[in-house]
Amino acid sequence: MGTLAKVMPQPVIPKMAPREDLNPFRIAQIQFDMAAEFLKIDLGLRQILRTPKRVMEVSIPIKLDNGQVKVFSGYRVQHNTARGPAKGGVRYHPNLTLDEVKALASWMTWKTATVNIPYGGAKGGVICDTKRMSRGELERLTRRYTYEISPILGPERDIPAPDVATDAQTMAWMMDTYSMLAGQAALGCVTGKPVSLGGSEGRADATAWGLLFAIEEACKLKKISLRGASVAVQGFGSVGSAVARIVFEKKAKIVALSDSRGGVFNSRGIDPLKAYRYKERAGTVVGMPGASRISNEDLLALKCDILIPAALENAITLHNADQIKAKIVAEGSNGPTTPHADEILTRKGVFVIPDILANAGGVAVSYFEWAQNLQGAHWQDAEVNQKLDFVMRRAFNDVHMTMRKHRTHSRAAAYVLAVSRVAEAMLVRGLFP
Ligand code: NAD
Repeated sequence: MGTLAKVMPQPVIPKMAPREDLNPFRIAQIQFDMAAEFLKIDLGLRQILRTPKRVMEVSIPIKLDNGQVKVFSGYRVQHNTARGPAKGGVRYHPNLTLDEVKALASWMTWKTATVNIPYGGAKGGVICDTKRMSRGELERLTRRYTYEISPILGPERDIPAPDVATDAQTMAWMMDTYSMLAGQAALGCVTGKPVSLGGSEGRADATAWGLLFAIEEACKLKKISLRGASVAVQGFGSVGSAVARIVFEKKAKIVALSDSRGGVFNSRGIDPLKAYRYKERAGTVVGMPGASRISNEDLLALKCDILIPAALENAITLHNADQIKAKIVAEGSNGPTTPHADEILTRKGVFVIPDILANAGGVAVSYFEWAQNLQGAHWQDAEVNQKLDFVMRRAFNDVHMTMRKHRTHSRAAAYVLAVSRVAEAMLVRGLFP
């Protein structure tokens, strides 16, 4: 190590097959390899950091409402714990794969290092379609999943949080199950809990507030005024709907919104609160009054100042990166942009706020929640938001400094920063035994 100080040439993306490989874990490894090559990290250490530390696969049998038993598959992946306990969300999705969970776990390692909080990286998930399950079935699934992965969980080991199709209620069930097994109320075993159960003020909208702070910093660099800026949001879920509301309050103009069923567009602006209320009733934003229909593909290609992908991986690929017209892409979701697309966006002068920086507000406030739980404290909303503001702007500045120092694009800079921090912790700890 110590090589970070040396000014290296631009990172080289390893040769890839002519057709783009969209496997998220291979993409995560390419992103890591780029930084490891840049930092000239020792080959042994590279081998450790490009694969997860631990992978757990579990069968989850539950009784359905109709009396039949169904067995679901679940995972918990801990990528790295050099800088602190493993930390990462739990995703419920019918198309979830183990490679996706591995990718998400490694992105968590780089994310917690980018914003410099004392955690490693983890992720978990269950292959299931929550839209086809009752509340009772979801509760039984969550409790049995928690029980099955409980040997590797704990406030000092691995702390889950919400992700796609999981929420504060899911975390409450996880906390209760873990606490029953432990024989004590283990508040710090998960984050993103309801405030009535030791959750933090401000956690529900933390990812969106973190995104806002990063967007404000990027706007300063690109000399764009957020007031009046046009914004398109792909994925109107927890993160997407909250960030749409917050930038709307800052007087930005939401020109398009979407979910898995399609999108809506109005060049004069959409009120995200009206979209939210409509979606609550209709299950989608599609069809809301005062906006015309638009496809997800067309939304991504809209002429706007800020594009916020907030759905799933691989939204911006080799196939559509050339069509992106936004000046800033703020990655609310994890892994929305492939390495090939990154190259194209850089060439076009699009400023990308990479996922491991842009959406780190969620894990930052999860860290605050955990710290409050361990101390038996409860911080007010303003205190939480002020601390989040500090963490996000500091991280943005660290990434920007690294960009300038090494004359590289924002994702490469964030990876160089994060990988160097984790590698340093690994080296100073040494290899066990
Ligand atoms: P969510 O389930 O609340 O929302 C996801 C939204 O994306 C839904 O509205 C869904 O309809 C939509 N969607 C799914 N497929 C789509 C597609 N192909 N095109 C357009 N929209 C589509 O999930 P979330 O918690 O908001 O997570 C969204 C992203 O943000 C994920 O990548 C997640 O890992 C990331 N993230 C979440 C948090 C958090 O605290 N929840 C924190 C950091 C990052």
